[in-house]
Amino acid sequence: MSRPSSILPIPRTVALTAGTRRWPKRFEVDCRTEAARPLADAFGKLSGGGEGAIRLTLRASDSPLSAQSYTLLLETDAVQGQANDIAGFRHALTTLEQLLSEPNMPIGRIDDAPALKLRGFHLNFESYRRMDFDTALRFIETATRFKLNALLVEYGPRFPLEAYPDLRDPAALTLQQIARLNEAAAASGIQLIPLQQSLAHLEYVLRHERFAHLRERPPKFNLLCPMHDESLPLIKSLAAEVMAAHSCGDSAFFHLGGDEARKIGECPRCRPLVEREGVGAVYGRYMGHLARWVLERGRRPIIWDDVVCAHPDALDHLPRETIIQYWDYIAVADPTPVLIPRMSHTQGGPRVAHDWSWSVPGRRKKLPTVVQDVMRNYSKPSRLRASLGDDFLKQYGTYLGPGFPKLIRALPYLEYYQDRGFDVITSPTGMGNGDTEDGTPNFDRFEANIRTHAQRCNRNGRALGILATAWYDVPPELLYQPLVRTAMCGWTGR
Ligand SMILES: [Zn+2]
Repeated sequence: MSRPSSILPIPRTVALTAGTRRWPKRFEVDCRTEAARPLADAFGKLSGGGEGAIRLTLRASDSPLSAQSYTLLLETDAVQGQANDIAGFRHALTTLEQLLSEPNMPIGRIDDAPALKLRGFHLNFESYRRMDFDTALRFIETATRFKLNALLVEYGPRFPLEAYPDLRDPAALTLQQIARLNEAAAASGIQLIPLQQSLAHLEYVLRHERFAHLRERPPKFNLLCPMHDESLPLIKSLAAEVMAAHSCGDSAFFHLGGDEARKIGECPRCRPLVEREGVGAVYGRYMGHLARWVLERGRRPIIWDDVVCAHPDALDHLPRETIIQYWDYIAVADPTPVLIPRMSHTQGGPRVAHDWSWSVPGRRKKLPTVVQDVMRNYSKPSRLRASLGDDFLKQYGTYLGPGFPKLIRALPYLEYYQDRGFDVITSPTGMGNGDTEDGTPNFDRFEANIRTHAQRCNRNGRALGILATAWYDVPPELLYQPLVRTAMCGWTGR
């Protein structure tokens, strides 16, 4: 019998016989392992709507199973779920729940395991359109149904700040609502990863006159000065409140943001320092201080990668427990013609580029349409080897793959960060860049980007996983499609 279409993400192996049976009215749960105990009661209520009861045994696996893995045995008179951790049992029961939408109960065996340990999406309360609390709860439910296990929670001014109530958005969540999000996520095995920006993207703070003296580039209010005495205490105060709303047990990671802070060095405090030591040292020391502060509070810090990519000496200042979250929204194939040369760009090189040899008429036609579209919309032709410059090639040249400069290994900096001693999560775009036509998001590009990340991390074997971001100005319901794609690709690694 073929694989039931109800099971998503697609399991690793499904071996079903030709036979089926009617679904029982209910399952009598026989829980033989403590690891499954918290789930057993809830699933005692699971009902197929037919008649009678069938025993559902949850037991530790005889064979060593990797984390989050499970086996589901479906027999005519019994069902058995085997795993060695609560995540594995949760996935087994999610699969069983999905199967209940099939007309009959299939008979056979399912052995399943995720390719990537961490599979996440962006729960973004600060996007161009504001997600409300009920939508966020449904978002957690949907993520659970497709076996995601992490959500990056970005509040910005929608966090109910106590210390700075005037920074609160009128549509801020309440602490009670955040507590309910925590409960829902904990019950579903989803880690919420709270994010507090620490340099750029602090417009909601810096636009206020009483913080104007902390602006790095006055009168612009898009960047905090990293060298002002008040900056670190301010960020710690904001972060401490966000952290306190997410207990350590539920949120082992804390995201410090840190992206798009390229323009450090414009204020009178920073300029001489940056001229002497470079952006990397000033940025690295500042983020390193915050990362150690997060570690002291029992959590692992995460930072976006774009500034350390442009200024890799910054990595010298970060504790090795820091997780680098590597975003690349334009890699839609591996290898890819398109490169984001962040380091070279700071020295005058192109922002996003492909080699000039693709300009030969007809040559691009063999590439997938989605790749051609990315080249046309986001990338500029360049004599790549020359335009990247010696500094870039010395740092990253060996990571670009054998096809360089025409074709480049997707996410070329992944192994670089790992070789520097850091764990990496990679981030495709689930939605963003205003990439819509007639109001419809460019799902083709987002899904190809998500797939490329998942395949690349799977082949790499050491990446922690993928977490897709979402900057959306469309109704949040449209995020379900990239969310499901992230879940599918993250699970299968394909
Ligand atoms: Zn400054």
